Amino acid sequence: MTFPIAIIGTGIAGLSAAGALRAAGLEVQLFDKGRGSGGRMASKRTEVGALDLGAQYFTCRDRRFAEAVQQWRDRGWIAEWQPSLYDSANGTLRPSQDEQIRWIGTPRMSALTRGLLGDMPVRFSCRITEVFHGKQHWMLQDADGKAYGPFNQVVVATPSPQAAQLLAAAPKLASSVASVAMEPNWAVALSFEQPLDTPVDGCFIQDSPLEWASRNHGKPGRASQPDTWVLQANSRWTRQYLDLAKDQVIEQLYGAFAEMIGCTVPEPVFSLAHRWLYGRPVGSHGWGALADSSLGLYACGDWCLSGRVEGAWLSGQAVARKLLQHRAS
Ligand code: FAD
Repeated sequence: MTFPIAIIGTGIAGLSAAGALRAAGLEVQLFDKGRGSGGRMASKRTEVGALDLGAQYFTCRDRRFAEAVQQWRDRGWIAEWQPSLYDSANGTLRPSQDEQIRWIGTPRMSALTRGLLGDMPVRFSCRITEVFHGKQHWMLQDADGKAYGPFNQVVVATPSPQAAQLLAAAPKLASSVASVAMEPNWAVALSFEQPLDTPVDGCFIQDSPLEWASRNHGKPGRASQPDTWVLQANSRWTRQYLDLAKDQVIEQLYGAFAEMIGCTVPEPVFSLAHRWLYGRPVGSHGWGALADSSLGLYACGDWCLSGRVEGAWLSGQAVARKLLQHRAS
């Protein structure tokens, strides 16, 4: 008998896989522990508007990804972001020479994953804790003990540490997945009553707790927001201060930002901190996706490739190809 394919995770990798499987005529059922889609591309709704606290933009190198990006642009889900970019090193700010084309979801990052999700069946606020084999098929169990299924195959599209736990029924696959460590990142948003007097829209930062700062309201579709900046701490600093209270994280990163940006930075009128426990994979891999096809268990995500949005999308395509090839064989 044919049952749907379960996909755990509605980040860009899970949605890429779901779209490709559906286009091949297969039925999918998506699950996510979050309240909406996007994962690390999600946007947090706040009193100062929706803020991109994870992925800031994405770039495009692969031809297949370039084709998808054009379609998303034509549908109005994304727009090109042309920031005034700077580099900061040793306390000196300089215009950046980086001229890559950068894309962002509009009017918020999650507009892209929302568009990709479309009308696919999904359960949000559903944390899957176990993937287990029922009589003949796969079943899922959530944190409340509720079971879902049966499914013919399961695609796990979460960060590697979470995926390794969910794939315990396939020990070899789980151990490959577990070999990819992920680094944490603190992100902080600060809003100011008056726009800061700086030409900077985005800045790559060295020699600081910060690695990136950008003006959220300077991105396409966000002009109505007050002057809000998103600051991202580097992994080294985040590891050191992983359990610091949020108000102290805000204070320290505010100080680093004020030192770096080269203009007067008043007290913010709004601030928040968010900790990405599994922010970025350590290193890049050339796996595409991983699978135990004979068992019907599959894994994809940015950690299989480049640790970027493009890598996550390509990994979702790769997992769908693997699954379709196995079904055809
Ligand atoms: P995710 O987006 O993490 O999706 C996984 C999904 O699985 C999530 O929605 C999660 O809720 C869900 N999930 C996890 N466990 C469970 C469970 N047990 N049950 C149900 N659901 C579960 N990339 C770029 O290209 N450009 C950038 O500028 C950039 N900046 C970044 C800045 C930061 C601070 C961070 C953290 C990342 C950044 N990235 C950037 C990386 C980019 O965000 C990721 O590569 C990409 O979004 C990963 O997509 P994914 O689908 O593989 O995983």
